[in-house]
Amino acid sequence: MFESLQDRLGSIFQGLTGRGALSEKDVSAALREVRRALIEADVSLEVVRGFIERVREKAVGVDVLKSVKPGQMVVKIVHDELVETLGADAETIDLNAPAPVVIMMVGLQGSGKTTTTGKIAKRLTDRDRKKVLMASLDTRRPAAQEQLKQLGEQTGVATLPIIEGQDPVAIANRAVQAGRLGGHDVVILDTAGRTHIDEPLMVEMADIRKSASPHEVLLVADSLTGQDAVNLARSFDERVGITGLVLTRMDGDGRGGAALSMRAVTGKPIKLIGTGEKMDALEEFHPKRIADRILGMGDIVSLVEKAAENIDQEKAEAMARKMASGKFDLNDLADQLRQMQKMGGMGGLMGMMPGMGKMKDQMAAAGMDDRMFGRQLAIISSMTPHERAHPDVLKHSRKKRIAAGSGTNAAEINKLLKMHRQMADMMKSMKGKRGGGMMGKLFG
Ligand code: GDP
Ligand code: MG
Repeated sequence: MFESLQDRLGSIFQGLTGRGALSEKDVSAALREVRRALIEADVSLEVVRGFIERVREKAVGVDVLKSVKPGQMVVKIVHDELVETLGADAETIDLNAPAPVVIMMVGLQGSGKTTTTGKIAKRLTDRDRKKVLMASLDTRRPAAQEQLKQLGEQTGVATLPIIEGQDPVAIANRAVQAGRLGGHDVVILDTAGRTHIDEPLMVEMADIRKSASPHEVLLVADSLTGQDAVNLARSFDERVGITGLVLTRMDGDGRGGAALSMRAVTGKPIKLIGTGEKMDALEEFHPKRIADRILGMGDIVSLVEKAAENIDQEKAEAMARKMASGKFDLNDLADQLRQMQKMGGMGGLMGMMPGMGKMKDQMAAAGMDDRMFGRQLAIISSMTPHERAHPDVLKHSRKKRIAAGSGTNAAEINKLLKMHRQMADMMKSMKGKRGGGMMGKLFG
């Protein structure tokens, strides 16, 4: 298997324990390894180069989260950039056109066009209740039209009757016509490939496209395609014009670099992936999964994500320590409110804390709901640091000033102060009782 990037980065950064912002040196060292990982994953050199530069610009100066190493931080940035480049939003086949919507499949021989035609047809039929017609335009391989016919029989999808001697453009026209007359929602044109890109293939595809005016032109490519991926995608896009990509053989152990190459070079979305020979082995494209696979290291990414969560957790722990000490001022309350907002409001944190259920009920009874967190935070941020640390000083004139500053009123401020007092009292009464043990369990 592949030497994990984590191991390699681990040795690079062993000596580095410094925290703070990522330096040029940190980033360069990590990116050298990332570069190797991308190339090993079969991302084409041209794409790697541009990608690495973008990451470099983004990474230098970024703060390193406590508890992760600089290299791990870089990897997280690389991962996010990969997801972004692969296309963060899932896109599927677009059927938003007058029927019959024509989908044209293009690609090299053996890439999986015919198989994918069958898979898409089956899915549209079974899942989307579409009436689909498939037509093989592959007149080069004697058995090709027969292969699609059999897939049609197997999946229960109609195929265009075979007429010997017609050229691909004539078959395409006949298919569109049959689709129209037969009331089909979708017509899928399965074209012929070549073992490599050549002029006659490009001319044939361009002619079919011109004549059949497909709404979607999907380039079907083997995910194991290496450095050729860029040339392949660029040629088909420039000469035929594609609307999306389908990557097949994602069930193999290739690392999916072709996905990144082709997406980067064409800017066209990866719409589906093939994950096996069976007719139902068709899946939506998930950029994150491919990014993990390209880097071969989902573990680091989740580690850094956890570290980001840990920041919140560390805050919660600090809060717990404070609570255990019985000290709880308005700064602490503000932290608490923010935390609650993040954790899904009232239900979240309070519900999880033993003994807090009652408090939650009280808050609800006092007419407080999740929308109030924002206003409460506004009130606290309109206070001076001294006021936050010593709420006792908050008399009439100060409250007036705070109300004006936060767009609230004295009653709301009083309500907040009352809540704070109750919480602070509760913290005090909890002190020493179940104290650290409970909090430890809660936040540990
Ligand atoms: P075409 O020449 O582009 O039409 O390619 P075919 O559809 O005939 O597929 C060529 C071979 O690849 C067949 O044996 C398929 O079963 C196989 N194939 C296609 N898609 C996949 C896939 O996603 N995973 C795997 N493992 N095999 C696939
Ligand atoms: Mg075929």
